[in-house]
Amino acid sequence: SNVLLKVNGLKKYFPIRQGMLNTQVGDVKAVDDVSFEVFEGETLGIVGESGCGKSTTGRLLMRLLEPTDGAIEFDGKMISELSNSEMRKARRDIQMIFQDPYASLNPRHSIGKILEEPLIVHGMGNAKERKKKVLELLEIVGLNEYHAKRYPHQFSGGQRQRIGIARALMTNPRLIIADEPVSALDVSIQAQVLNLLQSLQKELKLTYIFISHDLGVVRHISNRVGVMYLGRMVELTASEDLYAEPLHPYTQALLSSVPVPDPTFEREQIIITGDIPSASNPPSGCAFHTRCPFKKDVCSQVIPKLQEVKPGHSVACHLYEAIQH
Ligand code: SF4
Ligand code: MG
Repeated sequence: SNVLLKVNGLKKYFPIRQGMLNTQVGDVKAVDDVSFEVFEGETLGIVGESGCGKSTTGRLLMRLLEPTDGAIEFDGKMISELSNSEMRKARRDIQMIFQDPYASLNPRHSIGKILEEPLIVHGMGNAKERKKKVLELLEIVGLNEYHAKRYPHQFSGGQRQRIGIARALMTNPRLIIADEPVSALDVSIQAQVLNLLQSLQKELKLTYIFISHDLGVVRHISNRVGVMYLGRMVELTASEDLYAEPLHPYTQALLSSVPVPDPTFEREQIIITGDIPSASNPPSGCAFHTRCPFKKDVCSQVIPKLQEVKPGHSVACHLYEAIQH
């Protein structure tokens, strides 16, 4: 299938400043040399612990943050090189859904006004057409005309996320970046919102990047999954492969702590020792070497590259170097 989004060598470094003169003493490498592709119509999950750079990656793709380096190509267009005004136009096609819809919905505006706003910003339609579109989207997400006159505080968390989804869909986007879209919701409501996202994907031919710390949720919704650790992507493969045969020691450790749905299937328990190191002072070489039960001498010296070691299955780990050659 077609590549809709291509990310190459993406980096975001935040300067660390100290002292009276505000001298730069280093960088937090929030996203460090990340490359991946997203195919049209798929869901790419991005998982990792908090601080691994997954949310920053999402914001860089929208250019809500400016990358330090790297190329972002959307539908054949280099969006990393667009001017701010050109980028505003391009955002019609790429929209974002956030973890906390309440924080992103203006409490003083009615739902109708909140949903209409993206159309006004992008100069889409006249007043009558905009109103029609608002009603159409309310219905698509399981709400109705009556809800348009109400205000964000009058809705439950699940309904607010439906409103967040409706707003993201107003401009007929092709790519949706969903950052922890169900993490703030009760488990019973999570399933409803995930099902809604999946049916919308089919109906509207959407492509998703689904960012979450929750491997169970990501598994449910993703075709492929990328695992991030301290700003780097350490494994990327089809969802079934990742869960059946994780190759990176970090992924193995993450999965061994997720409850396995099939109780006859026993997963070997791998315990990660130590806390996540700080991204402002990451370990040399493979950043996971301070916690890895398989580390070799080379691991603290050389950063392993993300390499395809089986068809469609890439991993960044020195254990697999032999398979390459
Ligand atoms: Fe462990 Fe070395 Fe692989 Fe890093 S590169 S995950 S330290 S074996
Ligand atoms: Mg986050």
